[in-house]
Amino acid sequence: MLSVQNVSFKYGRFSPQVLKGVDLQLEAGEIGILLGKNGSGKTTLFKNILGIHAPSQGEITFDGEDLLKLSKRERAKRIAYVPQDIHFGALTVFDSVLLGRISHFGMKAGEEDYKAVEKLLEDMGLKEYALRNVEELSGGERQKIAIARAMAQEPKLMVFDEPTGNLDIANEQLIMEEARKLAKEKNIAILSSLHDLNQALEFGDKFFFLRDGAVKYAGGREIITPEVIRDIFDIDVKIIQVDGKKVMLPVT
Ligand code: ADP
Repeated sequence: MLSVQNVSFKYGRFSPQVLKGVDLQLEAGEIGILLGKNGSGKTTLFKNILGIHAPSQGEITFDGEDLLKLSKRERAKRIAYVPQDIHFGALTVFDSVLLGRISHFGMKAGEEDYKAVEKLLEDMGLKEYALRNVEELSGGERQKIAIARAMAQEPKLMVFDEPTGNLDIANEQLIMEEARKLAKEKNIAILSSLHDLNQALEFGDKFFFLRDGAVKYAGGREIITPEVIRDIFDIDVKIIQVDGKKVMLPVT
């Protein structure tokens, strides 16, 4: 379980406090969606969880281990990061994914690593792409490779920063379905930011709404109400049920 407790952070001594006592808990196999306006601190929180920044106060643990005390390599075995738009350089798909295993193999990849990558490409329907140059693929395909690379780390937690930001609707759906498969089949915890509230409603198990540097609302779908959305985003929405699912509509 990921546990973020009372985490505060600011970028410089004289900068404003960006995170002010953030609390968040996410279990294995759950998809947690982080929501908040631009500038509310989502990426900053991710970077604290990933160990890119160290909180000035608070604790971040995973399965009881203090993430901040782990070496980079040990952390990479537990947490993988999927950024919004990844540029791999002129590598083949196979090598791009193999790089995800660097925290396992260190200097030189072995038979086990090659086998693991082959299996991953097969599982994710990417086998026929293995020898393609990753820079020549579409945004959606590249995003899938980024997930495959993160998976190659064999992490217990995956952090997605706006994973569908640059994608068309079909690829958006595909990436989020891939994320759901990982969470449910491999029991991985996934923490993701998402812009699209309806996509969040469809794929999230837990929701964390950031405001003023803290998680103001946390819980399951039931916490998502027009009042909460107004408080966080300053917009009016209507929530209706379609085929038993909650759907949000803007009110104009
Ligand atoms: P979000 O991901 O929710 O859009 P960010 O975490 O990127 O929000 O930003 C939160 C706040 O921190 C913003 O006010 C932003 O200006 C500030 N910030 C982000 N990165 C830096 C940085 N490298 N140096 C100083 N301030 C930063």
